[in-house]
Amino acid sequence: MGISKAIAEQMEQSSWIRRMFEIGLELRQQRGAENVFDFTLGNPDVEPPDAVMAALRRVVAGNRPRSHGYMPNAGFPEVRAKIAGRLAERTGAPFTAEDVIMTCGAAGAINVALKSILDPGDEVIVLNPYFPEYRFHIENHGGRVIVVETDERFQPDIARIAAAITPRTKALILNSPNNPTGAIYGAEVLRELDSVVREPMLVISDEPYRPIAFDGIEPPETLRTIGRAVVAWSWSKAMAIAGERIGYLAIPPHLAEAAALRNAATFANRILGYINAPAIWQWVVAEVPDVTVDVRQYQEKRDLLCDSLTRMGYQAPRPQGSYYVFPKTPIPDDVAFIRLLQKEGILAVPGAGFGRRGYMRLSLTIPRRGLERSLPGFERALAQCGSVVPG
Ligand code: PLP
Repeated sequence: MGISKAIAEQMEQSSWIRRMFEIGLELRQQRGAENVFDFTLGNPDVEPPDAVMAALRRVVAGNRPRSHGYMPNAGFPEVRAKIAGRLAERTGAPFTAEDVIMTCGAAGAINVALKSILDPGDEVIVLNPYFPEYRFHIENHGGRVIVVETDERFQPDIARIAAAITPRTKALILNSPNNPTGAIYGAEVLRELDSVVREPMLVISDEPYRPIAFDGIEPPETLRTIGRAVVAWSWSKAMAIAGERIGYLAIPPHLAEAAALRNAATFANRILGYINAPAIWQWVVAEVPDVTVDVRQYQEKRDLLCDSLTRMGYQAPRPQGSYYVFPKTPIPDDVAFIRLLQKEGILAVPGAGFGRRGYMRLSLTIPRRGLERSLPGFERALAQCGSVVPG
């Protein structure tokens, strides 16, 4: 049919997300949209902060000459300088404009980084459970995914990581606050990780959830702690503008290969077909780089969900950040339990979708009213667990 075997296989692997989408459509038809509680998507449910919309209006009204054309592939120099200034303040490293490459979101930044460093068969470590798109990003560039389990608190297990490193290891993808577990990695574990990362390996620190941290926690600066880290950043979650596709790749100037990597990444940004990050949004984020949504709304939903589930008898520890709660399913067969939830109109992603059976991911981007109305369904599903036929 003209479809490559590789993409057919990849589509099959990613079928959880597709299946949940299809099941969601079916359930909405059967029960009415208001009786379907969709915990599957990590799509911001709030509007961007007023300051972001005001900056957007200013940028549009300002109508800079040539602001809609191509620009250098790495982005507008003034925008990169502004972002670099903020990075220098945050990390203490002397970032300049040339160390920042504006990209189409964090996903664009990860692909640009991987394209720049991978030869076919090179290995990239991911920490299980992990965001499933990483597999595709790595395989896009001929890399091999090496899955390393996290510890019982979903923190990086440094001994296991050290044991997985081979001469072919080119990168490890780190994600804190984490999707799907909500874990935030502390400075100590980052320092330990730093001690096992050796050239040519890089840590690609995927940080779209950095501002989505609860209880006043400030995730430690990866760029301060891990000498061989680059950062894939986006404002998707910070500003609730995921559809605008704006982010950057930060390459710290102290890396021995910084200049070569910057050149390769700029070229990769072009040849992967992104060409450049969205022009108008580059100017907007340069105006208000640190504005973020109010995370209290997510924290309140986290508390309501985790406390309610725990009261019912689930094991649902509170995540420290990101959009996700990652409770254990009451039976080891997470897929069977997800089916029980579906009967209650609740859509959740099984842990299997992230490489960890026996768990489920629940997104806090569900509107609060829906969350509240879903709770009796969680209770009924738990009560039915005795009668489940695993499958
Ligand atoms: N990394 C993780 C862990 C994510 O959850 C997402 C999106 O949900 C991305 C990267 C991609 O971010 P963006 O949409 O900004 O490219």
